[in-house]
Amino acid sequence: MYQKGSDRLLLYPHAAARTQYRVYEGTKEIFTNAFAYAGNLETVILPASLAAFGESAFYGCKKLKSVGVPEGVTTLSPYLFADCPALATVSLPQSLQSFEATAFSGDTLKTVYYTGTAAAYKALVGSAIPSSVKVIPSHVHNMSVREVKKATCGATGVSTQTCACSLAVSVITPKTGNHTFGQWTVVKEPSFTAGGVNERSCSVCQKVEQVSVPRLTALPDGEAFFVKDDENKLIYVYPNVTVNMLTAGIAGLSTVSGRDMVPCGGDTLLATGMVAFIPIDPDADPETVQLADPYLIVVQGDLDGDGVIGAADARLALRNSVELDALDDAQTAAAKVGGADIVSATEARLILRASVELEDPAEWLAALNKAA
Ligand SMILES: [Zn+2]
Ligand SMILES: [Zn+2]
Repeated sequence: MYQKGSDRLLLYPHAAARTQYRVYEGTKEIFTNAFAYAGNLETVILPASLAAFGESAFYGCKKLKSVGVPEGVTTLSPYLFADCPALATVSLPQSLQSFEATAFSGDTLKTVYYTGTAAAYKALVGSAIPSSVKVIPSHVHNMSVREVKKATCGATGVSTQTCACSLAVSVITPKTGNHTFGQWTVVKEPSFTAGGVNERSCSVCQKVEQVSVPRLTALPDGEAFFVKDDENKLIYVYPNVTVNMLTAGIAGLSTVSGRDMVPCGGDTLLATGMVAFIPIDPDADPETVQLADPYLIVVQGDLDGDGVIGAADARLALRNSVELDALDDAQTAAAKVGGADIVSATEARLILRASVELEDPAEWLAALNKAA
């Protein structure tokens, strides 16, 4: 019987028939009289975590034959093993700092093992144990280990470690952490605007592990992340595509400029209204190269030219659909999302949905790709 929510053993049923008992590993204290008059108990396995015994904790255990006090216990309480007439062998740890003369009814003991030195034993015990008792100081435990409960990836196990000296302790063995993970499953598909999430779980302990998946930079089927419309001199790209990504994808393209015709750095995000100059002959000498007409960059859904799809873009599309605002060619192309021929409230709504990731611009470009 344990005190609720604590690591203190309060009471052992003294009439229990079992001859051996393993105190729950993790227990730190065995309370006063806890095992008193446990008439059938012959051996007890104490937890390696034990720190203290209450008074008379094993008083009157008539059949208790041997007991090993775990390393870490510092005090043997009064009458701890008193009136245990069968108790012949005890093992004491060098961690003991005080020794209560009444802890044993000395005349029953035959052998005392002690892990400290003979001098330390003498200083600790003095004459509390009769000199007729055989003392084996400087004892070194030779533990044999038996697994009681195998540790798993997610749960600790228990083993008992016993020594011929009569020490028997239960030890918690740590979780292995070797999970048995199944296949990765998709929690969230990556899109061109946001990364995705995959997860897998352990079939033994159900631990779940997640990884993030980078956002797409190319169409899943291997097509490029842009569509070049040579007839209308437009290059459609996904949001979040940089100048460098585009120049890597179009032969000979070396410069992309802003609306102000100032060349952009390679890490600049492409935005609607930027201009790309593509050489007629991609292999020509850069000094004398002849440039074709400029192409306008179109990021579908990005009307205001900041490269990002937001509510402001949806508002521009809506105002255009009711003729409150005029859009230029690049903006108009950016507003005709999903393969539309005109800009209406439907396109404005799609753009608004894309701004909160309810719509995937990848599908707009895929639709364009099909149409081309
Ligand atoms: Zn030993
Ligand atoms: Zn597991």
